[in-house]
Amino acid sequence: MIHPGGLFKGDLEEPCIFCPGCKDTHVLPWKRGGWTFNGDTLKPTFMPSFRLYQDSVKGSGLCHFILTDGVINFCTDSTHPLAGKSVPLPEFPDETGDT
Ligand SMILES: [Zn+2]
Repeated sequence: MIHPGGLFKGDLEEPCIFCPGCKDTHVLPWKRGGWTFNGDTLKPTFMPSFRLYQDSVKGSGLCHFILTDGVINFCTDSTHPLAGKSVPLPEFPDETGDT
């Protein structure tokens, strides 16, 4: 496994980000889904947006965002409190293991 570093965890082909809206990890399977990625692990840009359903976590919800230049732009149809806001991609909270 390649450790991508930067603000990602996991594999560069399916990096995980920490979502400050859901307070949870999201996997971005960009290669499988036809997204484009600028290759920058500190200021990543993916196109188009990611639309993630969070049925396993925190009830039923939708997290819809565009990641541009390391900033998560949450769409207004997201069901968490950061809907409509733009938030810099955070580092992962302190934890051990899981890499
Ligand atoms: Zn989220």
